[in-house]
Amino acid sequence: MQLLDGKKTSNDIKDEIAAEVTKLREAGEKVPHLAAVIVGNDGASLTYVGSKVRACKRVGFESTLKQLPESTTEEELLELVGQLNENPEIDGYIVQLPLPAHIDEEKILLAVHPDKDVDGFHPTNFGRMALDMETFISATPFGIMELLRRYNIDTSGKHAVVIGRSHIVGRPISILLSQKGKGANATVTLTHSRTKDIKALTLQADIVVSALGIPNFLKADMVKEGAVIIDVGITRVPDESRERGYYLCGDVDFEQVKEKASYITPVPGGVGPMTIAMLLKNTLLARKRHH
Ligand code: NAP
Repeated sequence: MQLLDGKKTSNDIKDEIAAEVTKLREAGEKVPHLAAVIVGNDGASLTYVGSKVRACKRVGFESTLKQLPESTTEEELLELVGQLNENPEIDGYIVQLPLPAHIDEEKILLAVHPDKDVDGFHPTNFGRMALDMETFISATPFGIMELLRRYNIDTSGKHAVVIGRSHIVGRPISILLSQKGKGANATVTLTHSRTKDIKALTLQADIVVSALGIPNFLKADMVKEGAVIIDVGITRVPDESRERGYYLCGDVDFEQVKEKASYITPVPGGVGPMTIAMLLKNTLLARKRHH
């Protein structure tokens, strides 16, 4: 078994990005600028946004954090989105999800200008991805593809089983893996909560991408010997014995499954750090496209 080390790989990517930023700075050119918008005080969301802003510093990007109170109205948020769309200093921005229940998430995502949508959530960008056109690929599936590529994992003709069909992970990774081209060309089965007998499908899989958010869902008896296992799940499991009161758990029963897998991502330290690295990559891409 080989560990797919997302932490190390993401650091390599950040080093590459930092080197490009240094060149821009030395040439007296504008460095990439990412803005992040967060509404409310959701603990996990604050942690994610904090990591994204820290990552910007690490690679030499400018960053702006817009932290709004839970009581922010949809109109106020739309106004901020409009300002970010207009601001030439900002190359790309993200609106951290989930938003409070009184704000229509779809309305906000549609208001983000596709050229600044470094999360790749706008229908224009998602559609372009589905049509194999150049776009911003959303960071988590982009990170999974990059991890597979950097570990030279051959996906061509392989059977990939994706668990979960969310718009931000399961659906896009199923599209990317099945695309025609190098680093893809897999035969994909997309499963979800209505799928009958997931185990029968995962047992046939050369690659399993698990993105459902149920701790330790994927057991050793559900995977084939030598399979490649990508664990996207991150669940905070309450644990009073820890200082922060919880620990992070993936969808995969790591200790058991690692004995059968050829490659496997840990949680934490697998897909999570790759997501942040690819957000930075998209921001650099946005900067290059704008200038
Ligand atoms: P989501 O929107 O909650 O979607 C979960 C998906 O799993 C749904 O499609 C659901 O099916 C399916 N599902 C639920 N129970 C199932 C079951 N028993 N068997 C088969 N499928 C089942 O989740 P998400 O946003 O994609 O996130 C999934 C996990 O990944 C979460 O733990 C999240 O924290 C994590 N995540 C990690 C990163 C990262 O950077 N590493 C990024 C994003 C998300 P239905 O469609 O039928 O309801």
